[in-house]
Amino acid sequence: MKPKRILSIRASLAWLVMACLLPAIVITVVLLYYDYQRARVELIRDSLSTARALMHAVDREFASAEMSLRALATSPSLDKQDFSAFHAQARDMLRRHSLNNIALIDAGGQQRMNTARTYGEPLPKATSMGQLERILKSGQSDVSDLFIGPILKTPLITVGVPVHSGNTVAHSLVGVILPAHLQEILVDQGFPPDRIAVIADRAGTVVARTHDIGRFIGQTVTPVLAQRLKESDEGSFETVSLEGIPVLTVFVRSATSRWGVAIGVPVETLTADLRHSLWLLIGFATLLMAGSLGLAWILGGRIARAIRALRSPALALGYGNAVAVPELAISEADEVGKAITKASTMLVDTNEALTGSEARMRGILESAMDAIITVNDSQIIMLFNSAASVMFACPVEQAIGLSITRFIPERIHAGHHACVQQYNGRGNASGTFDAAGIAVGLRYNGEEFPVEVSYSNVVESGAPLHTLIIRDVTARVRAYAALERSNLDLQQFAYVASHDLKTPLRSIAGFIQLLERNHGAKLDEKGLALIQRTGSAVRRLEQLTEDLLSYARIDAEVKQFVPVDLAEVVRDVVHLLHAPIQTANAVLTVGEMPVVLGDRTQLAQLLMNLLGNSLKYCRDRAPEVEISAVLEEREWVFSVKDNGIGIDAKHHEKVFEVFKRLHTQNDYPGTGIGLAICRRVVEGHGGKIWVTSESGVGSTFSFTLPVFSPEASDEA
Ligand code: ADP
Repeated sequence: MKPKRILSIRASLAWLVMACLLPAIVITVVLLYYDYQRARVELIRDSLSTARALMHAVDREFASAEMSLRALATSPSLDKQDFSAFHAQARDMLRRHSLNNIALIDAGGQQRMNTARTYGEPLPKATSMGQLERILKSGQSDVSDLFIGPILKTPLITVGVPVHSGNTVAHSLVGVILPAHLQEILVDQGFPPDRIAVIADRAGTVVARTHDIGRFIGQTVTPVLAQRLKESDEGSFETVSLEGIPVLTVFVRSATSRWGVAIGVPVETLTADLRHSLWLLIGFATLLMAGSLGLAWILGGRIARAIRALRSPALALGYGNAVAVPELAISEADEVGKAITKASTMLVDTNEALTGSEARMRGILESAMDAIITVNDSQIIMLFNSAASVMFACPVEQAIGLSITRFIPERIHAGHHACVQQYNGRGNASGTFDAAGIAVGLRYNGEEFPVEVSYSNVVESGAPLHTLIIRDVTARVRAYAALERSNLDLQQFAYVASHDLKTPLRSIAGFIQLLERNHGAKLDEKGLALIQRTGSAVRRLEQLTEDLLSYARIDAEVKQFVPVDLAEVVRDVVHLLHAPIQTANAVLTVGEMPVVLGDRTQLAQLLMNLLGNSLKYCRDRAPEVEISAVLEEREWVFSVKDNGIGIDAKHHEKVFEVFKRLHTQNDYPGTGIGLAICRRVVEGHGGKIWVTSESGVGSTFSFTLPVFSPEASDEA
């Protein structure tokens, strides 16, 4: 692609000046030309009317001569053939007329008298035979063309009239008009000196002329004029005069004599005004253009200087250096300059803020208890904080540039790479490596320790950076192990204690029965009552050890989860509780039950405890118990709902604790372990248990169990 042409401000302004001035100049030229055309048309019109007037004057001259000659032709002297008397009469008439002389010519062309000669002198034959023939033939008057007279021997013209003798034309009476006379008519017109006017005869011969008549008399007018005079009565055209001057010629032809008058206006005169105006325009336009371009140059320079002055501040801004913009002569440039200064101040503020936030960031990094390590895409350490240095027993300077794998035991390098890929695939993520089982750190000295790692991705300047926040969990792992051990010990203890207590308790119960049976008769009422109370205390103790044993057994035994049909379990439980259900006259409703994954015995115990409680805590009304299961999202929600005594809201949490009871043995017997067992069973199956209840209205014990899908377990 052709690169775009960049114009400087000066060139742009120069173009602007030209664009404004040139149309104005063109319009002025067009107007001048239009004015010239108008002046030309006017001149042609004026010249035509002058030519017509001139032609009219010439024709009048001929008519006047004709009239005088016609009057003379009627002289009786002619009839008498008294040419001497006629000569005197003619001479007499010449005194009152502008004719030069008068001649009488007979039909044979012989002059019979001529006022230019004394009467009686011999006279030559006439030379204008054409005119004579025309007069004799037509009997009409006639004006001759220019010819050399045989007596005067100079160019002249004659006006001739017929002289009748009876019915025939016997003579021609002619009056001579000298060209000088016509020349006078021209001069009288008072033409401007440059105007060339000419009077031409029928043949186009110059008879009178304003310029150089001596040189051109008798010559034919220019061929163009001669042609135009033959063709039309009047007109105008451009040509070159006889002396070689270009002229605009206007001509008129007489309808009577067929003579012509032409006026030539030199083209130079005609265009003088136009040329003058054009020169003025050129001068004015040149001055205007020079002035405007000069102004554009100066203004363009000022603008360019103001804009260039912004170059170094803009660069300084880019380099982050201090910016100083002087006051500029152009207001818009000055505004930009002020904006650059402001931008520079803002940049300084931002930099300071950035520096501050960087310092804060560094402070956080350095004071953090956790190790913070940033690595690039090639796993090379870019950042290693003080906590990392302490945790991995490696100085910061030494760690920077090392691969992160230097701090991971070799046996789990493969797992580490898999983890990295997994997190990278997720984009910007965070998480711990615990789940992948590689949460083991390696100190610089080769010692391994358990860690918890969270991870995040950031892209900085187009390159991904990975930050690991690592926590040393050695202490927590140790404490957890100790707790696990102690829990196990306690469970073992509870199991052994309750198991071992069972035998002596059974013996005591047996002994008490023996005592009552063998020695009861010897005892008074008080003694018998004591034996009975001891018996019931022992039974309670037996129940307590039984319950404790089941409680301890839940975690002590290794669970093998299998699909359990809860409908069957509920059926078994109802069967086992047949007697109390009958006694209490209870109404039992059981909904659809699903199959879940779990321990059958524990689940049976869970339902047994909940159903048992519903039957037990019902006061004097017949218990109505409803067992149901609802599927909610990914888990089953089971409910055992009764219409019993209910539980006050403040005890809803407590009832699940071990030995927590809300009633005395007399009101409702029990050990306070049943619901604690329920909670253990549910939590051991990955669910949770809670109660919703209103005192005096009834309780609903609900628990959740994960949904079991046979396909998933098959795949597993
Ligand atoms: P126990 O029934 O042996 O006392 P539990 O752990 O089963 O022990 O119950 C704890 C306490 O919760 C009971 O003492 C009783 O006050 C209350 N409780 C349990 N189930 C119900 C119920 N269905 N209605 C009212 N109260 C109940």
